Amino acid sequence: MQQATQPGFAACHGCSLCLLPCPMWRAHRDVSYSPQGFAKAMQAGASASDLADQLVCCIQCGACDVMCPEQIDLSGMVSKLWKQAGLSESIELSESIGLSESIELPDSIEWIPQPSNDKVFAMSKNPMVQAQLSCKDLYIIDAAPFHTHHAERVQHYDALRHSTGCSMNLDLNRMAIPTGADSVSARMGKFDVAQQLDWLMQGHDFKRIVVECELDQSTLAKIIDQPVIHVSKLLE
Ligand code: SF4
Ligand code: SF4
Repeated sequence: MQQATQPGFAACHGCSLCLLPCPMWRAHRDVSYSPQGFAKAMQAGASASDLADQLVCCIQCGACDVMCPEQIDLSGMVSKLWKQAGLSESIELSESIGLSESIELPDSIEWIPQPSNDKVFAMSKNPMVQAQLSCKDLYIIDAAPFHTHHAERVQHYDALRHSTGCSMNLDLNRMAIPTGADSVSARMGKFDVAQQLDWLMQGHDFKRIVVECELDQSTLAKIIDQPVIHVSKLLE
């Protein structure tokens, strides 16, 4: 949610830092598929519908919000553009965005806000959960709520990583690399979750995956040989 004092796209000075954690940019390698691209297009007078092809590829992970030195509410601005472009009601853009058929978004799919994962976050603080994590685990943080509460949560997960020895889906900037499995873009075939998971898994050596997001669990379980469990299982 944009705060009253928070700047909008007009404040973008083009530093490109938001590209670094952006899965949409990584998938396309084209600045027009990035928060910077949206900001610069809007500064040049583009409309939301001009950007529909790109907007629909944003998985709303929130990593760009944390990166931006101007503290622009980037994911909030993208959400507004998404609505202005008519993408949140029904996808009637089959011609303009190249979909083979019109896709209706089920009522259950909300663009924003993300479902609260406060309960899951509390589980990650539970001593019983922490005692069962080890260096054999890859722990996948739910990215969007992590970025929303970044200042508080980055410290908690850093401590958890060090005390248990598990690895996590954190990049060098300590942003959580999202799977994208729970995104509208993935459901529309606009985001390649398998490719994203390849990136996420790189450099990790693990015997088990522990996830916070249930959709991550079902998606990963289909493609990963190792067991994939939800963090709540560690409480049983
Ligand atoms: S919310 Fe995520 S995918 Fe969307 S622009 Fe920001 S970093 Fe990229
Ligand atoms: S990080 Fe912020 S200021 Fe820098 S290019 Fe991205 S939107 Fe613009």
